[in-house]
Amino acid sequence: MNDQIPTGSIDEVAVATEAARFIERGVVPHVIGGKEVGSLDGRSREMVNPSTGRAFGNVARGGASDLDAAVSAARAAYEDGRWRRLTPRAQEAILIRLAGLLEEHAEIIGDLDALDAGILRRYAGFIANYSANALRYFAGWPTKLAGSLPPAGPDYVVQERIEPVGVMGVIKPWNGPGAIFAQVAPALAAGNSVVLKPAEHTPLSATYMARLALEAGVPEGVFNVVHGDGEVGAAMVAHPGINRISFTGSVRTGQALAAAAAQTFKRVNLELGGKSPVLVFADADLEVAAAAAAGSVWNNSGQVCTAGTRTLVHANVYDDFLEAAIAFSADLRVGHAFDEATTMGPLITPDQRAKVERYVEIGQQEGASVAWRGSVGDSEGGNYVAPVIFAGVRNDMTIAREEIFGPVMSVMPFTDEAEAYRLANQTEFGLAAGVFTRDIARANRAADALDVGTVWTNCYQVTDAAVSYGGAKASGYGRSLGAPALDEYTRRKSVWSKNY
Ligand code: ADP
Repeated sequence: MNDQIPTGSIDEVAVATEAARFIERGVVPHVIGGKEVGSLDGRSREMVNPSTGRAFGNVARGGASDLDAAVSAARAAYEDGRWRRLTPRAQEAILIRLAGLLEEHAEIIGDLDALDAGILRRYAGFIANYSANALRYFAGWPTKLAGSLPPAGPDYVVQERIEPVGVMGVIKPWNGPGAIFAQVAPALAAGNSVVLKPAEHTPLSATYMARLALEAGVPEGVFNVVHGDGEVGAAMVAHPGINRISFTGSVRTGQALAAAAAQTFKRVNLELGGKSPVLVFADADLEVAAAAAAGSVWNNSGQVCTAGTRTLVHANVYDDFLEAAIAFSADLRVGHAFDEATTMGPLITPDQRAKVERYVEIGQQEGASVAWRGSVGDSEGGNYVAPVIFAGVRNDMTIAREEIFGPVMSVMPFTDEAEAYRLANQTEFGLAAGVFTRDIARANRAADALDVGTVWTNCYQVTDAAVSYGGAKASGYGRSLGAPALDEYTRRKSVWSKNY
């Protein structure tokens, strides 16, 4: 449908899509026990398009009683075994069928994420495929998760059982709403029921995908969606009917959540923020490095936790690198998420835009210099912010220490390898790092020295459902994706029996 977008009538085209028909039926519902339902107290909230600042519909606003209903549905589904006692083959088939449905409906999922999250419409396929790939990968696990049966001498048999934990609470942020299956797929593959709370600003694709899950054959009550704000998230953490929590979001909320979870002995996994360093050595291909580093900060308008916001460049190539980064960024076109020509969309809310603009002011006040600043063109009404490349940044400046979650790139020099690693690790975060060098020995030293969960060498932000992902330090703990993720969604039980 992008081909048909006439200039100046983007919104009109947007509302002509199947996504609009989905929204216009009324208040976008929760999905509880396989039914699409409103909030018990009738509350709803307005949804606002970040590209225009205009409200376009309403979504159910859940509270404690809606959460209770979802947990009851999830527990009932877990206890009667309608999902976990299916044969592994049947579970595999359903998860693969759901992956196919996501791919089939990639366009509408992209429309929904563009409408409420401002994610570029041109990435529609990418988002649906990310979730579909997670489902396809984890669909292989039910047949392989059986506990081992090691012999324990002639008199005993021991089963080391790998069991579901019960009901998983999954709490998601607004920056990648269509990517929920990174958490939901392993939770389902392990046999759990799920209660998902999407972020309050980005409810659309979750309800839509829960509907597809039912169509694929995921039994009612196994995958529930409750919309609402942090209050619902906090209620999930406290709820005795939820066994574990998987949280993706900010450091402050993650910290509070982990403390609260301790009260009910819930294990949590936390995917939090980052201030990821990209190290560019003098022997690097500067164009490749500049495109990767700057591209990662412009990606989703900087609203990605792995954004490489601290670029550390060897002093000998510092000026050349800056030039390459500016040249790469010169064509950026900030605008409406539905506009095919847009390469950088809006920020999620006016508050987020104001926060980013404040950081740009603070950066200048603290002595960093604006090496380049893009423009927002004639994009009126939305939460647009002009991308900025700061030069002369020091690691102790606010813009180098705090996660901005906007299109602000900081470039700083280093003079030797030891200094590069020291600066890279001198941060409270530990999510990811990039290393650009042609020297394989140095790349290996860097991988060893960097205190982060993922290192990308001569590339950046590459992911695969089979490869685990997670943070160190304030970026959180636990791994998502890959085989290690299954540990977050299962528990062990050792069963000994003696033969008479
Ligand atoms: P951001 O909005 O910056 O992404 P948050 O960490 O505030 O980061 O939000 C991430 C998710 O956590 C959202 O779904 C939000 O509603 C939820 N949330 C907010 N506060 C709490 C809380 N106290 N307990 C549990 N979840 C929360």
